[in-house]
Amino acid sequence: TRTLALEGVTKRFPTGTVALTGVSLSTGAGEFVTVVGPSGCGKSTLLRLASGLETATSGTIEVSARAVSYVFQDATLLEWRSAMRNVELVGELRGVPRDERRERARAALDLVGLTGFEAQHPRQLSGGMRMRVSLARALVAEPDLALFDEPFGALDEITRLQMQTELQRIFRQERFAGLFITHSVSEAVYLSTRVLVMSGRPGRIVAEVQIPWDYPRP
Ligand code: ADP
Ligand code: ADP
Repeated sequence: TRTLALEGVTKRFPTGTVALTGVSLSTGAGEFVTVVGPSGCGKSTLLRLASGLETATSGTIEVSARAVSYVFQDATLLEWRSAMRNVELVGELRGVPRDERRERARAALDLVGLTGFEAQHPRQLSGGMRMRVSLARALVAEPDLALFDEPFGALDEITRLQMQTELQRIFRQERFAGLFITHSVSEAVYLSTRVLVMSGRPGRIVAEVQIPWDYPRP
């Protein structure tokens, strides 16, 4: 069974713009699917449809996940809270008792390599570290489905490469179903088990490439 499945999805906005048409794709546990395409081809719309932030005009979208996490490009962190308290937020919203949510937040920060930085506030952290906090906040919910909207697009090259390596290590450990959008072909190839190429206006999927696990990665 698929964690996320889109079948023949078309989205027309009230403005009349058709953002995407006839899009079918799916992802499941242990699959990291990347959608790569130029700006304006409907990638963000696709992710918003997958997360339920938008509804499809036609076609079907099925999600079979207890928890869905979303990671955006700018680390949307609460500036007045420490790294720890940012990651704890998810547990607070769900009413998880304090000790338990602290413990989970600590474990999530450890997973992204931020042990020792729990008390730092976002402005004290580098761009890469802020992105790590965002990742920890997404992972602390133990998502079955993780959606990534070009999360590393604003990072410098070195930090971006570090984050790609980090995300891949975490993915191999956590085995959630991943859907990642980017405009960078090399990033897509590096990260994923399957690359879908999206193109046109409205956007449609024009190619699909499987990436073997043993594909050489630095
Ligand atoms: P991408 O993420 O690939 O850059 P988007 O999904 O952001 O593409 O946009 C695809 C198309 O849909 C663009 O033409 C964009 O202007 C249009 N679009 C996106 N969101 C809206 C909206 N809320 N209302 C109207 N048009 C939109
Ligand atoms: P753009 O983002 O402008 O589309 P590219 O598609 O060239 O640029 O992607 C560059 C990014 O992809 C780099 O920041 C780097 O992190 C990553 N990258 C490029 N080549 C590799 C590689 N061989 N292995 C892993 N990551 C790579």
